[in-house]
Amino acid sequence: MIHNFNAGPSILPKEVFQQASEAILNFNNSGLSILEIGHRTPLFEDVMHEARSLVKELMQLDDDHEVLFLHGGATTQFMQVPMNLLNENEVAAYTETGTWANKAIKEAKLFGHVEVVGSSKDNNYTSMPADMVVPPTAAYLHITSNETIAGTQWHQLPYDCGVPLVADMSSDILSRVLDFNKFDLIYAGAQKNMGAAGVNLVVINNNILGKIERTIPTILDYRNHIKEASMLNTPPVFAVYVAMLTLRWLKAQGGVAAIEQINNAKADLLYSTLEKIPFINLPVAVNSRSKMNVVFTMQHEEQEKAFIQLCKDNGMYGVKGHRSVGGFRISLYNALQMESVEAMVSLLNDFAKKQG
Ligand SMILES: *Cc1c(COP(=O)(O)O)cnc(C)c1O
Repeated sequence: MIHNFNAGPSILPKEVFQQASEAILNFNNSGLSILEIGHRTPLFEDVMHEARSLVKELMQLDDDHEVLFLHGGATTQFMQVPMNLLNENEVAAYTETGTWANKAIKEAKLFGHVEVVGSSKDNNYTSMPADMVVPPTAAYLHITSNETIAGTQWHQLPYDCGVPLVADMSSDILSRVLDFNKFDLIYAGAQKNMGAAGVNLVVINNNILGKIERTIPTILDYRNHIKEASMLNTPPVFAVYVAMLTLRWLKAQGGVAAIEQINNAKADLLYSTLEKIPFINLPVAVNSRSKMNVVFTMQHEEQEKAFIQLCKDNGMYGVKGHRSVGGFRISLYNALQMESVEAMVSLLNDFAKKQG
């Protein structure tokens, strides 16, 4: 049996792989592949419509919030957000919590001023910042809800920061119940927790748009995508279809609240196992631990090498930490089954016993 702990692109439900592959050969009994139909046919329009509706339903969004599926990866949102929300003479507040937040900050500086209102750089990004002061004149506050590489996650969200709240949720989207209507803009690359690479989910509160003086290129202006129901140009049809299937699967599991309980149980089991092993180091502060990406190191390099080999021998994929931090990273996205975590836990326990 294979266990896939990849950080992204990552595991998806088996049913989704099955249904997606059927659609490549014969989409909805049309005799055509989903890859060869027009995006402006009812066949595909239904897919886009269902995907957007499922997001609204699963996130319990109000009517001010629009759902878009856009190209370009979360990385495009690093620039598209400030291009649409930040005037040149204005300040945007950003939290500096790791690799991904820093990339977002770098792009925002191309469009206006950035004030870092909370940083965990001094502790090597092992916790989320506390005690932030956000200037009331800031155009928005940007957070990275889960830092995929550092293995940190916001537990208490800064809902009442007094300015529009923007979040990069690429690696924990739809993994836990949040008050999604309190966010004015949420974006997420699909390939970590809700689909295949090639599409972004963007959720926007309509009321924050239209306050920018610069001319925005047509394809980068959120308002154009809203007007065209996320079909301004050819959408990444297959990636949208895979996202739609994953959203259907999530709904069938009981939705976000139900998956959150399973995610909590998976993370609790893994963290509590790791805590009991004396030669394992968990660098992240307990109140900032990610339930999606569990990061740890071992005391000796030989131990790490031996455990990586053991994982390989046991069909466990994607356990190595990001090249910038080393050690291990075990990703526990929605589609990862509890039995995979149990298999990892028993491997860890056996390994610990042998180490004496
Ligand atoms: C993976 C990731 C990104 C980058 O996503 P792309 O789709 O590769 O552009 C951005 N932010 C976070 C938090 C991520 O985990």
